[in-house]
Amino acid sequence: MDLIVTHQVADFDALASMIAASKLYPDSKLMLPGAPEKRVGEFLKTYSDLIKIEKEKTCDISDIDRLIMVDTRLAGRIGKAAELISKDIPVLVYDHHPTTGEDIKATGGTSEQRGATVTILVDQIRRKKLKISPLEATIMALGIYEDTGSLTYLSTTEKDMDALSFLLSRGADLKAISSYLNWQLTPSQTSRLVKLLGSVRIYQFMNKRVIINSVSSDRYVQDLALLTHKLRDLEGCDAIFSLVELPDRIQMVARSHSIHIDVGQIATQLGGGGHNLASSAVIRVLSLRQVEEKILNLLSRQLKTKFSSVRRIILDQMNSVTDEVVKPLLKKDLAARLKKTLPQRLYRILRLAGRIADENKTQAFAVGGFVRDLMMGVKNLDIDIVVEGDMEKFAKKLAKQLKGALVLHRKFKTATVVMKDKSKVDIAASRTERYDRPAALPEVDPARIRADLARRDFTINTMAIKLNFDCFGELLDFFDGQRDLRDGRIRALHRMSFVEDPTRIFRAVRFESRYNFRIDRFTEHLIKTAVSYNMFARVSGERLKEEVVLILKEKEPLKSLKRMAELHELRFIHPMIHFVPSLSHLLKRTEDVLKWYKISFPKKHLEVWLIYFLSLIDQLDLNQTEELLQRFPFRRKEQSTIRISKKADEAILNNLAKTKVIQPSRVYSLLRPLPKEAILKIMAKTPILRVRSRISDYLLNYLHVRIKIKGEDLKREGFKPGPEFGRVLEMVLYARLDGRVKTRSDELGFVRGLAKRHKRNQV
Ligand code: ATP
Repeated sequence: MDLIVTHQVADFDALASMIAASKLYPDSKLMLPGAPEKRVGEFLKTYSDLIKIEKEKTCDISDIDRLIMVDTRLAGRIGKAAELISKDIPVLVYDHHPTTGEDIKATGGTSEQRGATVTILVDQIRRKKLKISPLEATIMALGIYEDTGSLTYLSTTEKDMDALSFLLSRGADLKAISSYLNWQLTPSQTSRLVKLLGSVRIYQFMNKRVIINSVSSDRYVQDLALLTHKLRDLEGCDAIFSLVELPDRIQMVARSHSIHIDVGQIATQLGGGGHNLASSAVIRVLSLRQVEEKILNLLSRQLKTKFSSVRRIILDQMNSVTDEVVKPLLKKDLAARLKKTLPQRLYRILRLAGRIADENKTQAFAVGGFVRDLMMGVKNLDIDIVVEGDMEKFAKKLAKQLKGALVLHRKFKTATVVMKDKSKVDIAASRTERYDRPAALPEVDPARIRADLARRDFTINTMAIKLNFDCFGELLDFFDGQRDLRDGRIRALHRMSFVEDPTRIFRAVRFESRYNFRIDRFTEHLIKTAVSYNMFARVSGERLKEEVVLILKEKEPLKSLKRMAELHELRFIHPMIHFVPSLSHLLKRTEDVLKWYKISFPKKHLEVWLIYFLSLIDQLDLNQTEELLQRFPFRRKEQSTIRISKKADEAILNNLAKTKVIQPSRVYSLLRPLPKEAILKIMAKTPILRVRSRISDYLLNYLHVRIKIKGEDLKREGFKPGPEFGRVLEMVLYARLDGRVKTRSDELGFVRGLAKRHKRNQV
């Protein structure tokens, strides 16, 4: 009998090659040495009754008279099947990896450089005109898709494409394939990815950028290959090496994106294997530091150049860094603009801040949204000041001179001066931030203004205005913020921006729709990547809620929601919310209803964002709404509005939609228990004019109807104070709403009638 075996930690190409080999050698059993890659394991579990593969532990190899190795030629990678090699039996090898000095001597098989090993076997299946099932075709196609990066890797050959089209013609299921290829990271995978990200070291070999990351783990990381792929996409490098320090060995996975970097050769030198673009190794004799040194030396040799270690560079590759620090031409303009556009009180505060900075021999700057809006001529009275050096001393002086109250947040190196009229000035020490764990709160270190501006979200928010007397009004624009303002472009400062802080995605969308700007293409790509890596899962419900509310508070939330949906389908609010046309229509009608309300009641306060939110979650049922309330910490009143709206919506709509005449008192009694926000949501939800006009009658007319009689009148008629009072007054109100009583004496007459009936009933 034949034994078909592949390498440890089998990937889809390895599995596919085993299945394909079993077609060529039907009198065979298949054995997986050790555990496969996690996704392959999941796949095998799903199809366990259709795919028969034996485990290494339980597989009997005593009766094997021929060994067939696929996707490897290294004896060290096939587990106990290696014992067979020393026996005098034929060994056939099918492999697409380049040769190494340690390859076993095969007596047959085929080894060629192809994108995937299974391509070689599919070629033979075709030639022999063997039949394959759609499931087998699917597995084989998965192997090709995975090992060729969906036909994008440089190692892809025409034969891989041929094989793929043959497999598609044999029923390979693209839907199943893409569900395994577009593997969404689970929360624990995301956190492992984030751990790896936190350990990234970047090396520059002339124009080649190589990343090495390493973490410790007490267990073998099964999905290291997947995480390494994702990391490479995120970091955008020419090669990447992921190292995991286990108690007794080091696990390595390497990927290359350049024909000049052969990670297969490096893995071989470290005792592993693979091909030039993808490889892995398990290293037992070297320490982590030694492995890294060895990798760097081997890379130096391959690339014939020395390397330098680099920090993650701001605006790397994406942008040009502007060296010109000050734009002096603007100095006068800006000083004049500040004087002209700001209320005198605020202008004086800026001047005072400059003077205090001079006295303290420090530098002070107005920064952020305030500067952005000033440059655009948009009103913004929230002054943010950044101080280089002793922020506390500066803040104390400013508070004293403004006779304001000082609130210091020493931990965050920020302060707020609150004036008597409740207006505020925010002050911060200039700082740089280190994200030891992406999506977590950063560590804050003191720094000069440039570093402070470099940690910000978008170029348009990185401008600062000097406040010291000598240079008052000088603009600092290190990152071409002015150019992006002019071109209407939202541009992140570096590749990791949205991984470090995914809430910047909301900010980007907010600025885009507020100013009618456009997120630039590369920034959009970074957003989509961060979203696809499930980065939102790492943001607390509280921050997410804050950001959603801010979006809904903008002038045109529908525009932003559409954009959010484009970028990540609103999954982060609840997986069951889909931006389908019906939701888009509902949000549009919500916008119209709100316009109507504002015109009808210009002075009435309304939680506009909450109405949009109610519409946004219209697709959720009661249980899903409860899940949402668990995740997002809404205030008690907001929670109650959300629950009431969810419970009452349908019933009220059904009642109000009836074609027969409905008395105003009935409309009143239906709507009265609901908060205004929930009522307006119902109004937006219904396309039926009749219902809308019943609701608008309620808001415009019924709600303001008052009765003339008081409790005293009821007492006189013999009613006792207590719940009875409330009931009677309500009946009078209903009578008035329905036009059955019009004057105070009508009301008294009505009450008398009630009193008589009441007495009769008591007798
Ligand atoms: P808005 O007009 O909506 O208030 P803003 O830009 O003034 O927008 P703030 O939240 O007051 O926003 O932030 C002030 C400044 O702090 C921003 O201009 C930006 O430079 C920086 N900033 C705010 N949030 C972030 C963030 N998540 N990541 C990086 N920088 C940020």
